[in-house]
Amino acid sequence: MAIRNIRQFGEAVLRKTCKEVKILTPRLQILIDDMLDTMYEANGVGLAAPQVGILKRIVVIDVGEGPIVMINPVITETSGEQTGDEGCLSLLGKCGQVTRPNHVKVQFMDREMNLCELEGEELLARAICHECDHLDGRLYSDLVEGEIRDAVYEDDENDENGTAEKDTETE
Ligand code: ZN
Repeated sequence: MAIRNIRQFGEAVLRKTCKEVKILTPRLQILIDDMLDTMYEANGVGLAAPQVGILKRIVVIDVGEGPIVMINPVITETSGEQTGDEGCLSLLGKCGQVTRPNHVKVQFMDREMNLCELEGEELLARAICHECDHLDGRLYSDLVEGEIRDAVYEDDENDENGTAEKDTETE
């Protein structure tokens, strides 16, 4: 178990197409454990292998209902629409409005390489679309409607002294 370095926007690895997993080696099992640790450490709801520099079709998701590991995921059905803010651990501190299907069905292999199917709505549907996009080198910034903005966290909003500017910078 280890925290891996999350690759940031601009790094070429995020724009590559990932390879299908044929055999789930012990090395890839460790990668999956590390991806889960890294996602939780960063307070993310999902992470795709290319975000830690590995070009394999593996994603992990947890929208607050427990970890989901998807190997070779393929979205087989989509319906409806949702528009809302989206962020990414590879574009830290930023967010932007993206329209996604409100309902998706996805097929994938689990950690024992059994074929599974999952349906997701709302945040889970959004996370599945976002993470599957990573496997083909797509980022939410490609789909964003309007501007990518600085994410505002509740802590900032509640901080009454937040407007005080740092005007005494030294080298
Ligand atoms: Zn992302």
